[in-house]
Amino acid sequence: MGLFARIKKAWFDTIVWETIDDDFYDELEESLILADLGATAAADAVRQLRDVVYDRSIQNGEAVKQALRDILEEKLNVGDTALDLSTKPSVVLVIGVNGVGKTTSIGKLADMLRRRHKRVLLCAADTFRAAAADQLEIWAGRAKSEIVRSREGADPGAVLFDALQAAKARGTDVVLVDTAGRLHNKANLMNELAKLRKIIDREAPDAAKETLLVLDATTGQNGLQQAKVFKEVAGLTGIILTKLDGTAKGGICVAIAQELGVPVKFVGLGEGIDDLQPFDAKEYLRNFI
Ligand code: GDP
Repeated sequence: MGLFARIKKAWFDTIVWETIDDDFYDELEESLILADLGATAAADAVRQLRDVVYDRSIQNGEAVKQALRDILEEKLNVGDTALDLSTKPSVVLVIGVNGVGKTTSIGKLADMLRRRHKRVLLCAADTFRAAAADQLEIWAGRAKSEIVRSREGADPGAVLFDALQAAKARGTDVVLVDTAGRLHNKANLMNELAKLRKIIDREAPDAAKETLLVLDATTGQNGLQQAKVFKEVAGLTGIILTKLDGTAKGGICVAIAQELGVPVKFVGLGEGIDDLQPFDAKEYLRNFI
């Protein structure tokens, strides 16, 4: 089964692509909104489609679909979808609220990188939740990766310091840092992330850095609002969009690009270790519409 085959949804089934009139455009806009594209992106896309169809005198249904895919692809094009892992070590901070699939995604990502012959070290800097480090340790085992952890309530900065020392000593390629993403207190989150960044800047000043937000696709537009706060306080370089295999409406990918201007770098398509895929806009759009 190809990437995204599982997200194919019926949003556009009732649309007659050959009859290009006002009703067609209205229905299409409604379907795009239902598919979680968000009102702004849906209206933009339809407006652009009208222009393209008119300018190129498109009459063929398949050509209309392709024109819409091209418009959406342009919207998705908001930055590099590859991770910057150009230094040894590189440091990837992973943030997100509880339950979105943060631990699972870190485990999957560790395994993906290991299969690309990277030496990976997990850093359990979420010391707030009792089970967080235990969960991460289970994933480290599955992904055959190393882990640096401490006890519950320990200083996350101290754990990160230890992890960076270990990474430098062992020739680690990538340090994946699990952080506590508690949103209820913006200032707290910002302070904590600032502290972690300071430690990275001191201990690994030349390291390539990524800050990835894990977002649950099934939370749709609500998740997007959360993500805006994270972007504001944490300065994101990418999104890991999880649970696209479930009841999620695929259009959320476009909404994220439009609303956040941050690229989706990976998508989670299941609970298994292999169910993380680099985001490929063309393939995604072929399945979406
Ligand atoms: P965390 O609290 O953010 O660390 O979340 P977890 O990694 O513990 O994941 C919460 C739940 O979501 C677990 O039951 C995971 O198996 C599940 N999960 C994570 N990613 C995916 C995904 O891409 N698809 C599906 N269907 N479930 C996922």
